[in-house]
Amino acid sequence: AADIDANPYKPDFPLLAEHLDLTFLDSAATSQRPSTVLEAQSRFYTTMNANPLRGLYALSVEATDAIARVRSQIADLIGARTPDEIVFTRNTSESLNLVALAFAPSVLAPGDEVAITIMEHHSNLIPWQRACADAGANLIYLYPTKTGELEEAEIARKIGERTKIVAATEVSNVLGQRLPIERLAAAAHENGAIMVVDAAQSVPHLPVDVSKLGADFLAFSAHKALGPMGVGVLWGRAELLERTEPLYTGGEMIDSVTETGAVWAPVPQRFEAGTQDAAGIYATGVGLSYLVDHVGYPAIAEREAALVSAAMRRLAELPFIDIIGSPDPARHHGVISFNVRGIHPHDVASLLDMQGVAIRAGHHCAQPLLAWLGVENLACCRASLAFYNDRHDVDMLGDGLETVWRTFHG
Ligand code: PMP
Repeated sequence: AADIDANPYKPDFPLLAEHLDLTFLDSAATSQRPSTVLEAQSRFYTTMNANPLRGLYALSVEATDAIARVRSQIADLIGARTPDEIVFTRNTSESLNLVALAFAPSVLAPGDEVAITIMEHHSNLIPWQRACADAGANLIYLYPTKTGELEEAEIARKIGERTKIVAATEVSNVLGQRLPIERLAAAAHENGAIMVVDAAQSVPHLPVDVSKLGADFLAFSAHKALGPMGVGVLWGRAELLERTEPLYTGGEMIDSVTETGAVWAPVPQRFEAGTQDAAGIYATGVGLSYLVDHVGYPAIAEREAALVSAAMRRLAELPFIDIIGSPDPARHHGVISFNVRGIHPHDVASLLDMQGVAIRAGHHCAQPLLAWLGVENLACCRASLAFYNDRHDVDMLGDGLETVWRTFHG
């Protein structure tokens, strides 16, 4: 097992290294960044800053090449067939809106169905509510067991010949559970439907391969995977992207424009209207390199499994903690949601914060899930771990929660 007493990664993360009194347990909201990412962002502006695509001079070409290299790197990372299948957006939310609002109208007719799970983040839920409302289609929810398992019978019951799109998160940002995406994709394809995967919480933890998953579209955000905020990725199968209208129009997304119309540029430029966050995209590549090449998914999995097990063992010793979701640490990919009996999650988070422990409290952009689970106040606490956490962080969480309980109960 991984040695979580040692932490070889912390020195690479300036915010963590310079705030040794901070226990950061909110990586599911956004990860911390290694100094190589911060330096890359600034290196872009100091050595290659020019508007990519807009100039025929060396500097602009260099900026353009830098973006092209990251596009290829991401294509390789997720098993895309060509870099042209990678669209840069601002975040997962924008990527999923692009699919729901620009692609979905081409396949949805009145009476059709879009199937999602009750475990979706609002980002993979509200766009489908809109798409269904616009098309007169019906939004169908798949429900897991109370511990977050999506069973075969539920998949067979909900995905059928009326289904045109299935959209699901690979890892739940509340339960930490990995969903059987391969199985959902097979059910979608048996019925001629399209499979959309929200990989926001999986790319930071698990190898993601679009063909193994059986995905047709897949979205994630750089900022949860060591990259900067403001860069998202949408991957789509080339023939589907070809059929998709742009969501935004303007600069850099056309072949030609006349007084009365415009001809779109090829994919993916067609979806990238306006000036891109070139420095952010450049730094995204550096962040993903750190994640995948420097640390590596096998080491990430081993270390996070050890951290989650240690944290859940400690929480199990506290009789006032109720874990939300599976009691099995192996089912939690970095995320542990819980409540402290009788104490509002916001109070728990504030009291932990006073002890230097940063966790998330609230609805975690998954209100329908919390409502369905019957979680009081539609709110819970969430501790989310990354490979750069260590045993001290787990101890701080456990000790902190004991203090929270004593504060309320003397
Ligand atoms: N989907 C999931 C599963 C998430 O956890 C998040 C972020 N919390 C999102 C989508 C949205 O990501 P972003 O805010 O970067 O658009």
